[in-house]
Amino acid sequence: MENESEAAETSGLAAMLASIGAALDDYADFRHPDAQDRRALWQPVLDQPLPQTGAGIDAVVRELREVLIPNGAAMSRPGFTSWITTGPVSVAVGAATAAMLAAPQRQTLHAFNFVEELSLRWLAELLGLAPGMQGVYSSGGSVANLLALGGARQWAFEQAGIDPAADGLSRRCLIYASSEAHHTIKRAAGVLGIGRNNVVSVDTETGGRIDPRALARRIAQDKADGGLPIAVVANAGTTNTGAIDPLFELGLIAREHALWFHVDGAYGLFGRLDPSKAALYRGLELADSVIVDPHKWMGAPVGVAATFIRDREILLRAFTQEPAAYLEGAVADAASGHSLSSLGIPYADFGVELSSPPRGVVVWAMLKEIGSAGLRARIVRHNRMAARVAERVRENRQLELLHEPTLSICCFRFTDPGIADLNAFNRALHHRLLAGNVHLPSTTLVNGALAIRPCFIGARTSFDYADGLVDEVLRLGTAMLGEGEFAPPS
Ligand SMILES: *Cc1c(COP(=O)(O)O)cnc(C)c1O
Repeated sequence: MENESEAAETSGLAAMLASIGAALDDYADFRHPDAQDRRALWQPVLDQPLPQTGAGIDAVVRELREVLIPNGAAMSRPGFTSWITTGPVSVAVGAATAAMLAAPQRQTLHAFNFVEELSLRWLAELLGLAPGMQGVYSSGGSVANLLALGGARQWAFEQAGIDPAADGLSRRCLIYASSEAHHTIKRAAGVLGIGRNNVVSVDTETGGRIDPRALARRIAQDKADGGLPIAVVANAGTTNTGAIDPLFELGLIAREHALWFHVDGAYGLFGRLDPSKAALYRGLELADSVIVDPHKWMGAPVGVAATFIRDREILLRAFTQEPAAYLEGAVADAASGHSLSSLGIPYADFGVELSSPPRGVVVWAMLKEIGSAGLRARIVRHNRMAARVAERVRENRQLELLHEPTLSICCFRFTDPGIADLNAFNRALHHRLLAGNVHLPSTTLVNGALAIRPCFIGARTSFDYADGLVDEVLRLGTAMLGEGEFAPPS
């Protein structure tokens, strides 16, 4: 065996990161076309057989700079407002990159492990969670919801003297969520053995908020039928429209029936920082668990969510892998005074990941950079951008508001008496928007109507993009009307 085949570069980070950083700065100018426009150029370059001999780090970095980075995703663009995702802010990229080498794991007693806990406390304080709520990071809202509902399942069955994590579920149980809840609630129920079909979908009122009376009726009826309700899930910002459920009413209903109260704030919990919205979160203090995604509104790189829970020991019982000789048995006693002398806070036993990057350092870095005041200013600005779009829509008879913004999402469409099929028209208009590669909202259905749905969460976006989107929708819609393709048959 030749030694050289194993010779991966293990130093030289400064030059390499400077080189990649320059290409990323260039990317973040966003003057390049969309990746699909140039697919015929980059795909053949990348689509190569498994390398038998190494090309060396310089060749790899060159291909990263010249082929991959310029043809990356559109999510970081300032006009990108699709779904609820965005590109990370620079300091978060720096923190995540630093952690990759300096702290590959969140276990053991090092500085990154310390800020894991510190940043969870900062987040809890920032979001005004009930005193004593403790957190754990995971990869995203999907897993964060899974952990919270795992806690709910553990707690509910323990009331009956059963350890569901150890012994499995002994009977069917029910979770209640609004019809607007994120589908990861159902998936979590599936993974936890509760079953997707045992997530009861409760009707919403106009405005996309769960109807508390419908919830209370349904719980009472299921109990009378011998069902075992275990949890109520509330939205603090639905994915579709940003609606916030009446948390206080839901929390009281949960208490009355001795059910776990979970609040999914993956997107919308940060909205509480906007003083004009804070009252919508009344009742959050009743929650037994709450989740939030720093990788959404806060601008962390994808892969950072937090679950907060009243008593982290419940998560320990729900998710422990049981003591393992290769872990606990391998650490010395704490008296040895080395970072390896303890695993530290057992985050791995509060969730489903053993190996995991530290994520708190990213949250710590973002808060340290701009403080709670900076983040609040961004959130207020984004909420105002959605309100600005709504205001322009109301002022223009060619536009129709389909959902009054609660936070930073606005749902609207182009309309005209001369359009036969408004959904088909707005879908086609959306395709033209994407082709322009500047204003990039997604679409959704609001009561069956296809809506253009900007969601403003990106740190790179600005007010001009709110006005610019409305202008562009008007321009494209007017042009399409002139073409006559969508006119009713005469
Ligand atoms: C985005 C979102 C999720 C899922 O989060 P991921 O980070 O994409 O896994 C769950 N709930 C709500 C309300 C969301 O907006």
